[in-house]
This record gives sequence, structure tokens and C-alpha cells, in this order.
Amino acid sequence: MIDFINQHEPVLRALVFAGSLGLLAAFEVLFPRRFLGARLARWRTNFLLGGANMFLLRIVLPGGLVALAFSAYGSGVFGRFDMPLWAEILISLVILDFIIYAQHVALHRIAFLWPLHATHHAEQTLDVSSGLRFHPGEALVSLGVKALAVLALGIHPVTIIIFEILLSSASLFTHTNLDLGRWDARLQALFVSPDMHRLHHSRAEDESRRNFGFCLSVWDKIFRTYRATPHIAHETLPLGLTGFRQGGLIEALRHPLRHIEKRR
Ligand SMILES: [Zn+2]
Ligand SMILES: [Zn+2]
Repeated sequence: MIDFINQHEPVLRALVFAGSLGLLAAFEVLFPRRFLGARLARWRTNFLLGGANMFLLRIVLPGGLVALAFSAYGSGVFGRFDMPLWAEILISLVILDFIIYAQHVALHRIAFLWPLHATHHAEQTLDVSSGLRFHPGEALVSLGVKALAVLALGIHPVTIIIFEILLSSASLFTHTNLDLGRWDARLQALFVSPDMHRLHHSRAEDESRRNFGFCLSVWDKIFRTYRATPHIAHETLPLGLTGFRQGGLIEALRHPLRHIEKRR
């Protein structure tokens, strides 16, 4: 199984990504949580950003994190322990999910990082494509954090493949405009759901500083950053950033500069 995952990494990642995207895009049309309106312009911006980030990261780190994990495996924290591979993979996945939670908190709380992440928050409508809308600067920060984690922990390459698949699918899922009914609240017992993440995109500042999790909801609960319901119904909850435009691709790329200009 592990050999199979290793050998077919690019195909597996592309298949899971395309499958999740297709299914979630269809489900959000069939069971919408909020009114979506025209999507073409937003989709163009978000997919171009997603594609540009993928291209940029491959230039910065050829072979990606998997190649780095191959070169670092056997060293780092996991190199000091003798445990079954399945346990190592499971523990690494939980640690990586926590690191992404901590990184998200840092992107909101550290003044020079916030303008980069603000591009993601400027969108006033959320749907599956919003899971791709990240500024290239944020994508680079995230790559650096994950690369440090791979080197420090000595994570098995297969863990990285599984984690990257989980991360991209979870990002699509939590941004989907999907009405899960009662299952949304049930899902939040352990995982981040679309309603849980939508609250994080609220215009109300005390709500946008909640629900930082990506896959597991437990970190928000442990560190008291969890909120179950927004101040008004999800259907009418204002999303985006007060005083900033959503804009197209160029505006999304310029968005961090708007924050720097406002601070002056
Ligand atoms: Zn955020
Ligand atoms: Zn988001």
C-alpha cells in the first residue's frame, strides 16, 4: 500500500483533488447553504491563484515536500523512536494538523503576516473555489513552515503525501457552500465543517478570530478559539473585510499592499 502511494503520488493527488472538487461543486449547487450568485469571475480569480501557487511552490522547492521528506527521513525527532510505521504516520498527521492550526493563528495575530492572509479573507462570498484563494506570499510562508516541520520531525514521505491530499481536500470542503443540516454540528465534534469555517470568515472581528482549524476541530476547543454559532444566521452572515474590496486577480495580488497603505 505504502509503495503504491509512493509510486503514484502525482496521479493520486490529481485524482483526489479533481474528484473532491467535482463532487463538492455539484453538492453545493444541489444543497446550497447561502445564495451564491454569479461565480464565473470569482472562479477565474481563485483557480488562477491556486494554479499560480502550485507552479511557484514547485519552482521554489523542486520535487515538493515529498522529495524533502525522502532526504530527511531517519533524522529528526521520529528518527529517535522505534515505532510501527502506521503509528508514526498517524501521530505525524495529528502534529501536522496542529502546526497548520498554529500557523493560521500566527497569520492572524502577527502584524506583518496578516496582510498576506487577508487576501483569503477579502472574499465576500464563499464556495468550494475559496479553498484555493491564497496569496502567493502566504503559500510561501506555509511551504516554509511545513518544510521546517519535515526537517525537524523527520516525517515519513508517505505521511506528507497523505497530509497534502487531506489538506487540499479539507480546504475545498470547509469552504464549500454546503447545507449539511444537522450533520454539520455533529461533524464539528471532531472535524472542521463548512459552517464552522464560514464563521471564521465573518466580518465581525471577534468571530474572524475563532475557528482556525483546518482538519481537526479539537485544537480550537483545547485553545479556546472555538465558536459554534455566529451572531446571526449563516444565511445572512456578512463575510469579507470591512473597508476592503474583494476584487479580481490583480486586486487579490495587490491586497496586502492595501493593508500596508492603510497603516501609514
Ligand atoms: Zn484566517
Ligand atoms: Zn478560509
